[in-house]
Amino acid sequence: MLKLQHSTAAMISVSKQRINHIRALIGNMVIPPVCLACDAHVGDQGSLCPQCWGEMLFIEKPYCAVTGAPFGFDIGEGSLSADAIANPPVFARARAVAQYDAVARKLVHGLKFSDRTDLAPWMAQWMVRAGGELLNDRPVIVGVPLHGRRMFFRRFNQSAELARHIAKISENRYTPQILQRIRATRQQVGLRAKERLANVRGAFWVPPDQKINIKGRRILLVDDVLTTGATLNAASRALLRAGAQSVDCLTFARVAPDAN
Ligand SMILES: [Zn+2]
Repeated sequence: MLKLQHSTAAMISVSKQRINHIRALIGNMVIPPVCLACDAHVGDQGSLCPQCWGEMLFIEKPYCAVTGAPFGFDIGEGSLSADAIANPPVFARARAVAQYDAVARKLVHGLKFSDRTDLAPWMAQWMVRAGGELLNDRPVIVGVPLHGRRMFFRRFNQSAELARHIAKISENRYTPQILQRIRATRQQVGLRAKERLANVRGAFWVPPDQKINIKGRRILLVDDVLTTGATLNAASRALLRAGAQSVDCLTFARVAPDAN
């Protein structure tokens, strides 16, 4: 009897696999999959064509244990960049999938300015891989919030979209309500490092009724791009002041130059 149940279960699982396979085939016939970054045809949904793949500057170890800035050569596990020692960030660790160049920029712009929310789940998958060690600490996850006025015009927050998918894939808690942007800030683009710092100082706030959700917890702050770290530092400061144990940051891309 037990054997029969096992074989029935196996048959159901095989037929489920077959159905999923057929669904995928039909899906691909109706909408032939194209590269996420250009219009070249590819074999599977959510992938890059060989040319875009080759142009994507993925960040691999060795990198600075704190800022995630890639090192040109291996100087040992846990090494810190000169920048991380001279200007320690407020957050504990930052990780990113790729350098903000060519293909990564296309994906970030597609999500942010072209309403391509279809990119978010695929970008989130890469981010889950790049931020594996941060996600293993079972953090609560939040995206860098937009100010209400900008949210109204843009209709969605790209960082929140990425954070939501990362939480779903990694089975961690998504808690968008713990952090708010209380001051409309100028776009950081085109500002120098000091101006960026002044622009976002005091821009974030943890509502008092949310402190209970972050007290003593590890927080993972998600954004699309790390530039100077000014925004992520300001948001991290607000979370730490409200009682978070630590804040790590996960972005899709990073602009900051190599650590050496
Ligand atoms: Zn392509």
